[in-house]
Amino acid sequence: MISEIQKNFYRITLRMPYRLRHVHAYLLAQDKQLALFDTGLNMPGAYETLKKDLASIGFSISNIRHIFLTHVHTDHCSMAGLLQKKTNVKIYLSAAAFDEYLHFRQADSAVSQARQFYSRHGMSSHEIDAVIEEYEDMRGIITEFNTDDYLQNKEVHEFGDWKFEVIFTPGHATGHVCFFVRKEGILLAGDHILPYIAPSLSPNIFDDNFRPLQTYSDSLQVIEQLPLTTIHPGHGNSFNGVSERLSEIRAYHEQRKQLIFGFVNEIPKTTYALANEIFGNSMPDFEKFMALNETYVYLKELKSEGSIKERMDGSVLVYTAC
Ligand SMILES: [Zn+2]
Repeated sequence: MISEIQKNFYRITLRMPYRLRHVHAYLLAQDKQLALFDTGLNMPGAYETLKKDLASIGFSISNIRHIFLTHVHTDHCSMAGLLQKKTNVKIYLSAAAFDEYLHFRQADSAVSQARQFYSRHGMSSHEIDAVIEEYEDMRGIITEFNTDDYLQNKEVHEFGDWKFEVIFTPGHATGHVCFFVRKEGILLAGDHILPYIAPSLSPNIFDDNFRPLQTYSDSLQVIEQLPLTTIHPGHGNSFNGVSERLSEIRAYHEQRKQLIFGFVNEIPKTTYALANEIFGNSMPDFEKFMALNETYVYLKELKSEGSIKERMDGSVLVYTAC
């Protein structure tokens, strides 16, 4: 489905089978040229839907000249390679996002890193196998692409009459960026800020020093400094009133952090044991894995703040109260 937000600026809504059910891409038009922001999920029928959507406003796939990616999660980028193959379009993303994408493509090293990381946090090898299987399914969806140019923080791009700035907003993904049209106060926010849920945060399995929550909170502050009128997110309705939404998201994380803190005591527990205790252990493997990731995010923060202790116990990391 495509809808006009304002002259030469469109939202394209594409279906996906995961929770949230849909993802938005955005489109700027200038004469016969198009710039696409994110691409939607590469699922059966998605390419044809995009083609039809473009045809309904008088364009075709070959009019796409540029693709700007907010981040490399499958629902935002997985059609990029397919479109590049068809049209030779230029793809832009941050260097950190391209690194994430390369990790994802180099399956063997990512899989062995994931095994090491998640077993250190208390998952059994057969549970890790189940997660890796899902991860492999997702990997198959992302079509291969190349980039000519990395996006730089605060650089200004011009596309016809449109002028927009690249704003680095790491957190939800390491290489996440938003696009800001200063003249109109418009933010294409990707998954940095969403209207109904707090964007998920997860560990960087390649970088133990990465603090997802701290990094994300810093990036919320970056957004707060911008003169924003309307947020156009990757999922859900566009909205105004960014400061109210920022307060809600901050309150949510604080409350989750306190919840997890409440389960850390003198008994040494792994991240996975804590996740099972807090969220229950009767969930499907992939949800248990998501619960582990979420628990990790807050434990990492609590540990960095000095509120809890972490130590190796044999081959696993355990957490106790101070
Ligand atoms: Zn995402």
